[in-house]
Amino acid sequence: MAILSKLTKESFHSEAAAFAYLEATLWPDGPICPHCGTIGRATKLQTSGGKIDGKRQARIGLWKCNEKECRKQFTVKVGTVFEHGRIPLHKMLQAVYLLCCSKKGCSAHQLHRVLGITYKAAWFLAHRIREAMRPASMSPMGGAGQVVEADETYIGRQQGLGVDKTGYHNKNMVVTLVERGGSARSFHTDGHSIADIVPIVRENIRRETRLMTDRAMHYKAVGREFAEHGRVEHEKGEYVSMDDPTIHSNTVENYYSIFKRGMKGVYQHCSEKHLHRYLAEFDFRYSNRVRLGIDDTARATKALQGISGKRLTYRA
Ligand SMILES: [Zn+2]
Repeated sequence: MAILSKLTKESFHSEAAAFAYLEATLWPDGPICPHCGTIGRATKLQTSGGKIDGKRQARIGLWKCNEKECRKQFTVKVGTVFEHGRIPLHKMLQAVYLLCCSKKGCSAHQLHRVLGITYKAAWFLAHRIREAMRPASMSPMGGAGQVVEADETYIGRQQGLGVDKTGYHNKNMVVTLVERGGSARSFHTDGHSIADIVPIVRENIRRETRLMTDRAMHYKAVGREFAEHGRVEHEKGEYVSMDDPTIHSNTVENYYSIFKRGMKGVYQHCSEKHLHRYLAEFDFRYSNRVRLGIDDTARATKALQGISGKRLTYRA
């Protein structure tokens, strides 16, 4: 039970240790005042978090800015996706760890049971963490000598559409780009046409890249814009090109196999509206995997670094 033994860390159980841990992660150069932006000029308010001699004590993790014009109070949670959550921070840190180290994800039900919080709170917390996992900026993938595989898959059912005979026109299309030996990037598209796929390929992959896809029509024209376009005929049972063994799309197929097992086994009820957040979660774990030298703890730290500067648009 490696996960449970890791969860004995003090920051997963003590609120003061949890704040200290998050402060060390987000403020390597000292406390940053979110009101005036001053770094390293704030005083920690020494408190117990309860009442002493009938006087209410300040909250754990509370700081006061020393700038003359500011003097405002803040905690490390201000301005992050954790700001308005009412769950104790040490439980939030446990949830980050669980979501980061479970290959197929961790359902709101699991979080609800393991952390002893309500299902609703667990659901919102998981979405906050997915938001933290979303990359803040995305530069194009690939480059000279690099290989990027592109593919698409269909998942769930679009709201308001019944079952049709073709079986996939009513489903949500996901386009995924995977750089061999690197990261993954997935997109939930509005429609199922070439016009939905081509801009994604064009905007996210450098032209010097070797592009690998199946023989689907939608990659044919845009493929000419790249250094090379390798295509395999899945319909004919070809998974690796006979002429050149580096021509295949097995990497993106592997990505989809983890993604689909997670979506079927862990997240059975994912609405179209939130699909992009689940994709961010699977992309994040894939892009920060052990093979790339990133262990569970480093992955959780990276997710925590992503909680700043992002806020969810809905309230819990
Ligand atoms: Zn300030």
